[in-house]
Amino acid sequence: MIFNQIFDAINIGLVIIDRDLKVHKWNRWMEVQSGIDAGEITGTHIFETFPGLNTPKFLRSCKSVFSFGNFCFFSQKLHHYLFPFKSTSIFDSKFEYMQQNCAMGPLRDENNVIRHLFIYVQDVTEVAVYEQKLLDLNMKDDLTGAYNRRFLEMKLNEEVNRYRRYRRDFSIIMFDIDYFKGINDRYGHQCGDFILKSVSSRISSKIRNVDYLARYGGDEFCCLLPETDIDSALIVAERFRTAIMEQENNFDGSILKITISLGVSELREGLDTPEILLKKADGALYKAKNEGRNRVVAIT
Ligand code: GH3
Ligand code: MG
Repeated sequence: MIFNQIFDAINIGLVIIDRDLKVHKWNRWMEVQSGIDAGEITGTHIFETFPGLNTPKFLRSCKSVFSFGNFCFFSQKLHHYLFPFKSTSIFDSKFEYMQQNCAMGPLRDENNVIRHLFIYVQDVTEVAVYEQKLLDLNMKDDLTGAYNRRFLEMKLNEEVNRYRRYRRDFSIIMFDIDYFKGINDRYGHQCGDFILKSVSSRISSKIRNVDYLARYGGDEFCCLLPETDIDSALIVAERFRTAIMEQENNFDGSILKITISLGVSELREGLDTPEILLKKADGALYKAKNEGRNRVVAIT
């Protein structure tokens, strides 16, 4: 009786399932988060309602609890969640589902036989959101949301090490807005900021999710392209150039069109340090500016 009251009052999810993986108990917290009454789910196989649980890891864990009395953990960092409950976080969260730390362990009867296991579900969305925000602050540029220079340098080091070990292609594109100072001077700093954001979001929409766009400083950006040789990087750079040239930026009723100049370089044997790679891309960018801007130049 007392146990039942605690079971339903506690602010975490508690589920008890039997050896056939049928739900034996479903506490009030689980009812509220899932919208499924205990009466409805009790006696049914857990996979009927939550087919996503049917994974090798979950099955292995259940087996190890029933066979050996082990405890198993499903951390938010690795799994994000066990039960897909829509996130109700009031924080600006990019998590679609409630982030959960979960654990399961054995429940023994009076003869010390494990007939059931329990799963507890802890909502850690708030902590995960804060962690994500701290991470973002540490590696993203405030204004544009692109990665910052610190992250860029860290990633460059990683990619250079990968190249040295596995000889994987790796290219970068450095680009800089043409006559950007003129935009600030003519339309104001706010408009300049708007253009920086607009360029960043346009380019972000053009890259693969394995690529990284970073703001190198001022109006200069650098895009890292893993698994990409210089010929492909040139095609990507050309795509960037036309995308920015064609974009109409509407600031306070004025339609502004801008261009960018781009320098491309790749890692090569004997020329495989972050410094050399950046220097080559910067040299190529400088050349693109000198040759008239709004163009792509590569230095191999
Ligand atoms: P170029 O074609 O040779 O690149 O000419 P440019 O006028 O773009 O010259 P440059 O790249 O040297 O100018 C960079 C300008 O960017 C100078 C600086 O005032 C402006 N800037 C740097 N950071 C910011 C920022 O965060 N916001 C705004 N609005 N402007 C910035
Ligand atoms: Mg510029």
